[in-house]
Amino acid sequence: MSTLTPPDAVALPFLGGGPRRLLIGGEWNEAASGRTFPSINPSTGETLTELAEGGAEDVNRAVAAARAAFEGPWRRMLPSERQDLIWAFADAVTAHQEELKLLEALDMGAPIGRRRPGTKPGSSWEAGVLRYFAGWVTKIHGETIPNSIPRQVLSYTLKEPIGVVAAIVPWNRPVSNAIWKIAPVLAAGCTMVLKPAEEASLAALRLGELLTEVGIPPGVVNIVTGPGETAGAALSAHPDVDKVAFTGSTTTGQHIVRAAAGNLKRVSLELGGKSPDVVFADADLDRAVPGAAMAVFTNSGQICCAGTRIFVERSIHDEFVERIATFAANLQVGNSLDPKTRIGPLVSAEQLERVVGYLDLSREEGARAAAGGARIETDDLARGYFVAPTVLTDMHDEMRVVREEIFGPVACVLPFDSIEEVTARSNDTEFGLAGGVWTRDIGKAHRMARDLRAGTVWVNNFNLMDPAVPFGGYKASGWGREMGHQALDEYLNVKSVWIDTA
Ligand code: NAD
Repeated sequence: MSTLTPPDAVALPFLGGGPRRLLIGGEWNEAASGRTFPSINPSTGETLTELAEGGAEDVNRAVAAARAAFEGPWRRMLPSERQDLIWAFADAVTAHQEELKLLEALDMGAPIGRRRPGTKPGSSWEAGVLRYFAGWVTKIHGETIPNSIPRQVLSYTLKEPIGVVAAIVPWNRPVSNAIWKIAPVLAAGCTMVLKPAEEASLAALRLGELLTEVGIPPGVVNIVTGPGETAGAALSAHPDVDKVAFTGSTTTGQHIVRAAAGNLKRVSLELGGKSPDVVFADADLDRAVPGAAMAVFTNSGQICCAGTRIFVERSIHDEFVERIATFAANLQVGNSLDPKTRIGPLVSAEQLERVVGYLDLSREEGARAAAGGARIETDDLARGYFVAPTVLTDMHDEMRVVREEIFGPVACVLPFDSIEEVTARSNDTEFGLAGGVWTRDIGKAHRMARDLRAGTVWVNNFNLMDPAVPFGGYKASGWGREMGHQALDEYLNVKSVWIDTA
């Protein structure tokens, strides 16, 4: 039994008591069915609390509440008032950031000490996302467009909120996943039903409480916890939902597109990846080794843009493998509540089984583990879902472990000989979410940035993100963008108006 307890008792009242309930129309209710399901701590396998198991009936009520709020007070609110509310929510997220981190650590296994690359100590990255979108609220406008009608006719456009949004999100970054949707939805003037992932819903529910406390009108943000196959499917097929904003696996994205066809609701998709990370022989290995390692091991590899296919120029391949294997072996793996932990558990027993299955497959396919390669079952970690950071070598591009998204701490290292070859091999994937390049040669950097078929290319860094910079996928990695002004357009309709002034 782990001796670690939450360092901050502030989250405990939230976890205690009866099942965590659904937020619908500003009120917290049990699921219509009365059913619940457990939320598990992946560091220990223990049940944290019970969650309400929302289903189709709850989804109907949540969508009706979102519709009523959209047609009612939210629609009439002045842009500056909406901006103030989002800003107040950002303040609440900042004030409660330690508590939210603790919930993520307990519920999903994210190490309590983790920080997004590029963030200042003590600042909340997610609050920054909210403030960025709050800034846009008063700057959403159409344009006056000259036309060639031979009479005096004025033509202009209006930008209008799309309506009721269903936001369906995964578990890998519970606070970010929710806020990446909530921020542009509120900024655009839409209302929403948020369905967090069944594996990690606590942080989203706490955000719902904070939204209520800062005075968000009832029904503007509704939260329905529950399984994807029921609650998620009901939302994506619902005839009164105007748009689905989805983050998750490519397979579920395909389900959502099919379900959305009923009323042809708009769909944006942030899906899976198998991102290349290319290390040229001229790279600064003191930066490239830890950079490429954490590009895949961060969050135990449970990040959509993880740089899982590390292509290394042949002349430095063996040295690189040795150095990244040493780096991986020295990463502190442990309970997510331990401040020293860099790599926590996988989110669930199911995810553990999936990743271990890929490790078995890699052996069958002939790969060799230069580091890791197995579940960690030492005494204090045996009850949790821990996998050692793994570096695989002796691989080729057709292996399933090289082609399929594993979503675990597994790096595949593959040698290459020329820039043309590595570009083609990097792009030889169904995905196109991101790519990394490590080089001191500016020409190679720009060439790769141009030629990689992916929504983001990081050069001499990996995983840097900013609310102002769009993020999203090419090919089977998705439709549309999050962050930046591009994200707002995902939640807006454009109306053209013609005024005959003759
Ligand atoms: P998932 O697709 O299984 O689940 C995501 C969400 O969809 C959950 O809320 C789930 O309940 C719901 N869902 C499941 N089946 C559904 C259905 N039939 N209809 C409607 N909703 C349904 O994904 P996951 O395993 O939770 O998350 C991991 C995946 O998410 C990985 O593929 C990862 O790459 C991807 N991801 C992508 C991004 C990105 O920005 N591109 C970010 C994070 C995660």
